Amino acid sequence: MAIFHGSRQWVVPLTIHGTFTRLHKASSALLFAFLLVVPWLRWKGEPLILADLATRRMVVLGQIFTPSDGVLIMLLALAAAFSLFLFTTVFGRIWCGYFCPQSVFMINLVHPIEAWIEGTRSERMRRDAAGWSFDRAWRKAAKWAAFAAVAVGVSMSFMGFFARTELLWTGQATPGNYAVVAFFSAVWMFDFTWFREQTCNLVCPYARFQGALTDDHSLVISYDVPRGEPRGKTARARGGCIDCKKCVVVCPQGIDIRDGFQLECIACGRCIDACTDVMTKLGHPTLVRYSTQAADEGRGTRSWLRPRTLVYGGALTALLAGVVGVTVLRDAIEVQVDRAPGSLFVRDDDGFVRNTYMVHVTDRSSAEGERTYAVAVDGLPDGSQVRSRPLTLTAGQRSSTPVVVRIPEAAAARTLPLVVTVRGTDGEARHATTFKGPGADAGKD
Ligand code: SF4
Ligand code: SF4
Repeated sequence: MAIFHGSRQWVVPLTIHGTFTRLHKASSALLFAFLLVVPWLRWKGEPLILADLATRRMVVLGQIFTPSDGVLIMLLALAAAFSLFLFTTVFGRIWCGYFCPQSVFMINLVHPIEAWIEGTRSERMRRDAAGWSFDRAWRKAAKWAAFAAVAVGVSMSFMGFFARTELLWTGQATPGNYAVVAFFSAVWMFDFTWFREQTCNLVCPYARFQGALTDDHSLVISYDVPRGEPRGKTARARGGCIDCKKCVVVCPQGIDIRDGFQLECIACGRCIDACTDVMTKLGHPTLVRYSTQAADEGRGTRSWLRPRTLVYGGALTALLAGVVGVTVLRDAIEVQVDRAPGSLFVRDDDGFVRNTYMVHVTDRSSAEGERTYAVAVDGLPDGSQVRSRPLTLTAGQRSSTPVVVRIPEAAAARTLPLVVTVRGTDGEARHATTFKGPGADAGKD
């Protein structure tokens, strides 16, 4: 089986316990809670977070967002990007080490399942080196079955942010939803069984551009070269590192942090726990620790206020203020007005000129129950007539109604600005449009 004995050096990390391993478990618990619990939570009858692609609306903490909230969505995307820039500049790859689903799943799902089914690192390596046997085959089969169950479970939970969980888990979601679940299950299965740490090393774009986001004062995991070198197990080696390689065998990325900063390092801190364990027994502080390039080179203490942190922090603050402002100020009702397809205007036999519009109304409130919306048209000359039907909507619902405006021909011989007003119990929203008459300027806006 080439997948086990090809040129690739398989990483089989040793299980380790320590401060950073516990921190990683805590951050993983947060991510698992977000992924597994949040899709089931409801707020005023609506999911806490739902991006419903079928109805083209998004619900976040009771707030309804529609495609017309483009400015808000752009501000949120920029805020997310700048928060990543800021946290990377200050804390290095904290996202990779503690919150990225790839490292969380690998370290706290895949590796524990392997250890549970295939035994310790040495047992597994011995069994794999000995070739195929019944013992090895059933363990691999059981492990892959467990990975498949996890891949499907994770993908179903993830899909719960895009389709209602009660439909998804009872087989009532759309075939498209289940196709997405099948696609992501296959991707995760490929990742768990084969690609693994190569996702960070070869595919992830964030690992590539993080070099541009960090500077000499960003936190990195670093080996204390002056204290550690020259390394060795013999009396001739006078450095602190006894070359036990424990920091290497615990690394989920299969690298040796003593070789210096490497793009493959996801800053999980497991090598710190390993060296702390070794050095504590020898009565010395750890040789691997969080540090900065500036501190390692003796160029002063860590500085928080730097041009990068000030620019990223300022931009993030402004963007978050914009998000809050736009959210607070946006209307609870969204109105769009289209002219009905066909001619701009129609001359009726009774001396009126008629324009027909389609008025689209979206209820963006989060309150339960139905609300009725009446459509009115302001700015009409005397004697004009408006025919419209009220709409009844629930939270997040969108519906359309035709509105017919008739103006006496004598008053309609020009382009006339109008305002369509939709009034509900929670307020009103307006939309400017024009009435087209048979005058010389008909056809202009
Ligand atoms: S070198 Fe250390 S911090 Fe970096 S990935 Fe390996 S164990 Fe994690
Ligand atoms: S765990 Fe510490 S002592 Fe052991 S090889 Fe790594 S740096 Fe050296």
